[in-house]
Amino acid sequence: MDEIFIEGLKIYGYHGVYPEEEAGGQNFVLSVRLFLSLQEAGLGDELDKSISYEEVCLFLKDEFNRQRHQLIETVAERLSAALFKKYDALKELELRVAKPEAPIDAVFENVSVCIRRKRHIVYLAYGANEGDCLKQIRDGLKMIDEDTHCGLTEKTEPIVTTPYGGVEQQDFYNGAAKIWTLYEPHELLKFLHKVEAAQGLERDKKQHWGPRALDLDIIFYDDIVLDSRDLTIPHPDMGARDFVLKPLAQLAPFYRHPLTKKTVAEMAAVPMETHIVS
Ligand code: ADP
Ligand code: MG
Repeated sequence: MDEIFIEGLKIYGYHGVYPEEEAGGQNFVLSVRLFLSLQEAGLGDELDKSISYEEVCLFLKDEFNRQRHQLIETVAERLSAALFKKYDALKELELRVAKPEAPIDAVFENVSVCIRRKRHIVYLAYGANEGDCLKQIRDGLKMIDEDTHCGLTEKTEPIVTTPYGGVEQQDFYNGAAKIWTLYEPHELLKFLHKVEAAQGLERDKKQHWGPRALDLDIIFYDDIVLDSRDLTIPHPDMGARDFVLKPLAQLAPFYRHPLTKKTVAEMAAVPMETHIVS
């Protein structure tokens, strides 16, 4: 992929574990590689199809001391998330934060941390059947959109479905959403659990297939295949759930399941005992 490289951007700052670092400050040096396609900008000689490195330098200087942190890891994490929020075209980045004057009783040239982050594309299924379902769905998706490490790209309107699994309960509102995220899969799952909890879901008491204020499932995460104790991607039950496949087919009909190699549209076309009411 193409890249824009900013090397050795000097910024005076107050981050660090020691009180004297907070009081007196020191020089920091940032280097950032922004990965994106530059072909359209290059063919048309158009700056607005690229990212202005001048704007990035000034943005980083502005953001750098907005909050004080002990760790340069945190500085790097916050700055990189802010860049992904600001620039839709940005696909990946590498950000190095160096502290050449770190208060260490030793002779050294430099110390730094370097993080690499990628804008992952994730399809979620959402569902609710307890409380003010439409509000919980709307508020939950808004929390995702407003999070530092995620954004909402597209969502379907909810469909009404009859419950599954034989537990007596209200109808479900189900749908799908396309989001981007910088979280790795397990961090994303933790974050989604927080969103569910904020919308009133009591995870401990929850019955499997029972009522819930908001349920958020990860259907696809890029094209990864992951099997672990608490997380399976692609979601193992998606192929058997009409209320997942029908909304998902609106957002990603051509997306191919990484294991079965079937497109979502093909999976959604297979007749199954239908649960959808309207
Ligand atoms: P379901 O969504 O299947 O109706 P729950 O919401 O109760 O059921 O999910 C229970 C657990 O499923 C979660 O705590 C999580 O650890 C696990 N899980 C496994 N794979 C996934 C996935 N792809 N997305 C969301 N949760 C998952
Ligand atoms: Mg779930």
